[in-house]
Amino acid sequence: MSVTVETAARTAPAAVIVAIDGPSGTGKSSTSKAVAAKLGLSYLDTGAQYRAITWWMISNGIDVQDAEAVATASGKPAIDSGTDPSAPTITVDGVDASGPIRTQEVTSKVSAVSAVPEVRARITELQRSIAAAADRGIVVEGRDIGTTVLPDADLKIFLTASPEARAARRSGELKGKEATDVAATRDALVKRDAADSSRKTSPLAKADDAVEVDTTELTLQQVIECVVTLVEEKQAAK
Ligand code: C5P
Repeated sequence: MSVTVETAARTAPAAVIVAIDGPSGTGKSSTSKAVAAKLGLSYLDTGAQYRAITWWMISNGIDVQDAEAVATASGKPAIDSGTDPSAPTITVDGVDASGPIRTQEVTSKVSAVSAVPEVRARITELQRSIAAAADRGIVVEGRDIGTTVLPDADLKIFLTASPEARAARRSGELKGKEATDVAATRDALVKRDAADSSRKTSPLAKADDAVEVDTTELTLQQVIECVVTLVEEKQAAK
């Protein structure tokens, strides 16, 4: 009996923490979910958490340009993330927020809210506790995961792509009128990236020890395969 347990312990892959960062439209979410599902890891979409707190601020009449008001309210909403990569969830005060956090209004206001240090401190703490509880390992996607949230991650990936490729992909995800306007999508993406990269507290940045993958000319399947191989190499080396 003890032999079986020992064998299982020896053959089970070691828990790995994978940080996947990069600007919007580089395929972070699709890649992270697929890699986590394939390798039996948990998955955390940290952008969804920043969107959730933004949605709560808007719903509660807080002016997102008023950093002091945002900071004061930042501890109030209860944000919960479900980490199953095949069905990730996000709730705010127990209410499903997966739809409302994807509206244009939230997208246009999230950078202002995520730049507030008190918001980042609160969400970063949440992210660290979720990662620590993931027994089999986790793929965490965002902007500052490799640099700030999980600097000791086993593997750090930084995904990039040309603004044109990113706008075309994001535009394809949007519905109706928004989908047809690739130029407007491109401008909105570039503006959001500039805000996320230039904020004082943990900006969007590549960690020095991150592997950079330019996805411009790659299919999603190719990016997934590349990251799965890198994770498996890390697991084998543990
Ligand atoms: O990834 P997504 O586009 O959903 O992220 C929404 C916003 O959340 C980003 O534009 C950024 O302002 C913020 N964010 C962040 N740090 C992270 C993840 C997202 O500031 N780790």
